[in-house]
Amino acid sequence: MTSLAGQVALITGASSGIGEAIAWKFAEAGTKLVLIARRSERLSSLKSQLTEKFNAQVETVTLDMQDTPKLKQLPSALPDGFQQVDILVNNAGLALGKSGLQGTSLEDIETMVNTNVLAASLLVRLFCNGMLERNRGHIINISSIAAKQRYPGGGIYCGTKSYIDAFTEAIRHDFVNSQVKVTAVSPGAVQTEFSNVRYKGDDAAANATYEGMQPLLAADIADQVMYAATRPANVQIGEIVSFATTQA
Ligand code: NDP
Repeated sequence: MTSLAGQVALITGASSGIGEAIAWKFAEAGTKLVLIARRSERLSSLKSQLTEKFNAQVETVTLDMQDTPKLKQLPSALPDGFQQVDILVNNAGLALGKSGLQGTSLEDIETMVNTNVLAASLLVRLFCNGMLERNRGHIINISSIAAKQRYPGGGIYCGTKSYIDAFTEAIRHDFVNSQVKVTAVSPGAVQTEFSNVRYKGDDAAANATYEGMQPLLAADIADQVMYAATRPANVQIGEIVSFATTQA
């Protein structure tokens, strides 16, 4: 088993849901953390809790994944001791819109593509060469079951997650014969703020997403990420797909 103690993990979208749950698991394992999101107060609160509970070393970066110029400066903006990222978790992401493509605003399309696709791709490019030079690293991309089970109204979101699946699979070939691993984690329905974001404050619509279902929890997905990240050197987990047991 690979120990995560002392490794540096950068987690995007760490202010809630799956990203926050991954931060808790990694902190417990002794990983040094760079936590990124827009809501700085959430990140500060999480940092305090992780420091108090695990004596974790945590840096927070307030960053909008859509701010491409700032994103490109991220590696050099990281403080000493956190610049050599060993584990990159591309988790920040969202779906927007409740009607079909014809009812989806151009702005929402840009937001989904920039956040789910462009930012994730740039971050891999920004950190992969350092990982390859050190012959140590793991890129973990949070995809979705929506990449496989495409649904009406999901044109852009399903498209972005299908990109993540294809991207993850393809770059694994680029890093073959190195100790830089690549994993896609593809959850089914997880109870987080995802649906509240999607339906922009329409809580009834958000809650209806999980009606009649006992959804996955963010901690379940964090367990999967931990599993992938702690395999021995000869084992690379390509993808983990999970569903809520009550999910069709
Ligand atoms: P949440 O809404 O709880 O978390 C999303 C995270 O992404 C937040 O921390 C948010 O931070 C961050 N984020 C969103 N947009 C931006 C941005 N422009 N810049 C920086 N950070 C951003 O949802 P989940 O935890 O469920 O989602 C995490 C990932 O899991 C996503 O990629 C999602 O597609 C995927 N997923 C979720 C499923 C589900 O059912 N919940 C199922 C399958 C996949 P902030 O707002 O502070 O910036």
